[in-house]
Amino acid sequence: MSEKTGFMKALKCRECGREYPLEAKHVCEFDFGPLEVAYDYERIAGALTREVIADRPQSMWRYRELLPVAGEPTVGCQVGFTPLVKADRLAKRLGIRELWIKNDTVNYPTLSFKDRVVSVALSRSRELGFQTVACASTGNLANSVAANAASAGLEAYVFIPADLEQGKVLNSLVYGPHVIGIQGHYDEVNRLCAEIAGKYGWAFVNVNMRPYYAEGSKSMGFEIAEQLDWEVPQHTVIPMASGSLLTKIHKAYQELSKLGLVKGSGWRIHGAQASGCSPISSAQKAGLDFFKPVKPDTIAKSLAIGTPADGFYALRVMKETGGGADDVTNEEIREGIRLLAECEGIFAETAGGVTVGVAKKLIASGKIPAEDSAVLCVTGHGLKTLDAVDGHVGSTREIKPSLREFEAIVAQDQAATR
Ligand SMILES: *Cc1c(COP(=O)(O)O)cnc(C)c1O
Ligand SMILES: [Zn+2]
Repeated sequence: MSEKTGFMKALKCRECGREYPLEAKHVCEFDFGPLEVAYDYERIAGALTREVIADRPQSMWRYRELLPVAGEPTVGCQVGFTPLVKADRLAKRLGIRELWIKNDTVNYPTLSFKDRVVSVALSRSRELGFQTVACASTGNLANSVAANAASAGLEAYVFIPADLEQGKVLNSLVYGPHVIGIQGHYDEVNRLCAEIAGKYGWAFVNVNMRPYYAEGSKSMGFEIAEQLDWEVPQHTVIPMASGSLLTKIHKAYQELSKLGLVKGSGWRIHGAQASGCSPISSAQKAGLDFFKPVKPDTIAKSLAIGTPADGFYALRVMKETGGGADDVTNEEIREGIRLLAECEGIFAETAGGVTVGVAKKLIASGKIPAEDSAVLCVTGHGLKTLDAVDGHVGSTREIKPSLREFEAIVAQDQAATR
């Protein structure tokens, strides 16, 4: 391993292929194409085997040669390796032979998949010498930056739309970062953050650190394949905000395949959005290569990005793998949350409702054939978006502390099931 760059070779423009040093930089100077981390796969192939991975602790860092840090990670060392749950009862309800839930609602420490990207971004930020970290967030990213920065002793500024769910706001504030609410939607938050990043020279995890940050999402794909006994699933359904997670799970499968670590080919990658913010799924359904920006209006606030930075590449991945996409209404999102909770005992936030709702549609339409096997990526915990289900999940029946009153309730229930 090279002391200065680990298994990374350079930052490379996705459009023209020009290479840049491994610094805090995210766009190509020539064509404004996004920069991506390039690795030395030959050396990785010599270092990373199934046995080496199996001997390491159960965290996302067991695949560290394929993650963009030069040395050992220093932030978020316990993140990842969340359960892959076989979901037989939900499979039956959705009408598919085999179904798995990749359960990132229990990711450590802030209960969403964002801990993966933040762990990478902050570890790399430290390597590059930053003292202050920041982000533009739809909620979960702010939670994760705030928590992980606190544990690492870094100064943190998090920028969020001012109208976020109370749960998401408190889950950032408690760690003591600077929380700035912007009067506008995420795309305006993001635009402001690009200006601030330029002026203050902080490490914005999803702006100037984006090439490193985004790679953290691959760990979800690595884990899915390993947990399926080193096999890539036929279908993976992934919620899309910027579209980054979707492209990176595909990249993870490609890398494992290239390194000879997995069986399976011809996997299909499917994307899920909310109808109130569906620039990518709408373009996919219309057969377009480009999306049209939208103004978000949905209860799935964690996915509410109207101008998705990786939308173009997400569309390409779905096209290349023969995957589909769809979107669901607020009511269908709530139904998805309830289905997952009632069938599998997993309480997801709105993004999970989007994924389950879209999977249901893709199975019903045959885009995911009933005889196949699918993995649903459930990316955040329901305790963070309680407002979304409040008033939609039944209610408590109140009685006096009296056995007679309770017996009346049991009689009522028995009558109802007869
Ligand atoms: C951020 C987020 C996503 C998707 O993010 P991308 O920008 O598409 O990578 C999915 N689910 C949850 C809960 C999120 O917070
Ligand atoms: Zn370029």
